[in-house]
Amino acid sequence: MRISIQACIERAGEQPSKVIEVAVIERNADVAPASGLGLFIRESQEILRQLQTVVLTEQVDQFIRITGRCQLCGGRLGIKDTKFLVYRTAFGKARLRSPRFYSYCSACGYCSSNKGTLSPLAQALPERVHPQWTWLQCRYASVMSYRLAQIFLRDAFAGGRELPCSSVKLNVGRVGQRLEQEAQRATMMMAAVTAPPRSSPLTGTPIGLQIDAGYIKTPRQEDGKRWTPVVASKLIWPKTPRTHAHAYAVGRDPTQGLRQQAFLQSVGIGPQAPVTVISDGGDDISFACKLPSATARVLDWYHIGMRFENLLMALRGLRGTDAYSKNRLRERVLKAKWLLWYGESKRCLERLESVRRDTGWVGARNPLGRVIRYLRCCSRYLANYQQRRAQGLPISSAGAESVVDYVIGQRMKRNGHMRWTIAGANGLLQVRCAVLNGEDISNFRRWYPLGRQIMPYALVDCKV
Ligand SMILES: [Zn+2]
Repeated sequence: MRISIQACIERAGEQPSKVIEVAVIERNADVAPASGLGLFIRESQEILRQLQTVVLTEQVDQFIRITGRCQLCGGRLGIKDTKFLVYRTAFGKARLRSPRFYSYCSACGYCSSNKGTLSPLAQALPERVHPQWTWLQCRYASVMSYRLAQIFLRDAFAGGRELPCSSVKLNVGRVGQRLEQEAQRATMMMAAVTAPPRSSPLTGTPIGLQIDAGYIKTPRQEDGKRWTPVVASKLIWPKTPRTHAHAYAVGRDPTQGLRQQAFLQSVGIGPQAPVTVISDGGDDISFACKLPSATARVLDWYHIGMRFENLLMALRGLRGTDAYSKNRLRERVLKAKWLLWYGESKRCLERLESVRRDTGWVGARNPLGRVIRYLRCCSRYLANYQQRRAQGLPISSAGAESVVDYVIGQRMKRNGHMRWTIAGANGLLQVRCAVLNGEDISNFRRWYPLGRQIMPYALVDCKV
């Protein structure tokens, strides 16, 4: 059996249409189809690659026919030479014919460019990668390592066989840079919006924004540091069907609060809505928590719960104490935790101090000391959590997952072996957040709208 696939090209006003053979599929009918019926992946990739070549060649030919003409009289321009440019798509790499034309029209004397020659295709394609191919790379590299993304794309797409890991990194980095520039522009615009002092009080639904910092490993920096903070934030209130997360690694930047405000703006929350910042008490996020519309900062109940959980674990392993006493201590710690829940932070600390006497944990270098120090440091951010819950106000990330785990942990901390430059990490974070928020497709549609009119060159009068 032999199946041949042909492409029939019909050009407007041209007869007859052209037929090109794309691929031939041959099968032995008498062999048992145990190895699988239908197309194999490799075959399908080869067919698509061939078909892509046909489409690209036709598109380019037509484009050159239209653009290789004089702007004034429409006569054909003379070709100086023909170069080839490489264009990469999901269906394979193609070498496109890109002729250089003399810009001077010998028929009418008009000059279509201020340079001696012009290459319409090279000028129309500043990026030599199909946007969808870049998009696919971004999508997968943001949820798995560059290496794994490359392996997946190699197996799934014909274009992936000619895609080294370094190209994935480069392409994703470019998109990350673009997103970072957009974020910075939005931050600057936010500064202009919120600069005058606010006259009217904040109104509208309360917004809960969780802000947290995680650390990623970097090559040794100038100051000898090996870790750099990544600030991640997530909209947790009001509940939306989609996740809205935002992250960046920019170091100490006092405009971070504006950046957070710009992030809220990007999801449709204006500067008039009062924002409650849910965070741990860390210094690394103090700039980020200073949103112009922030009305309160509340210590995340999730973080408190985790600290108490650690303390309870440590109590279980306390030496020289019998099971009964351990149980008593456990109950006292739990009671202290519930005092905190009801906003009785002072009484909670008294309880914990009394536990300290019975465990012999003196100072801050033990599980109990760490909890006490943490609560004392963050005492101004403690709230009456029970009351807030009753009023329907946000108190924590609610789920078992903190925003740092969600945005950073799963991609950038794997096994602790990954090392990042700050710029590289920041670019990837922008891409990853766009993918996690489901905004990656709309971004690419915005950047590369369909049916865009290509302006091959500027009209320049130099000789009439
Ligand atoms: Zn002309």
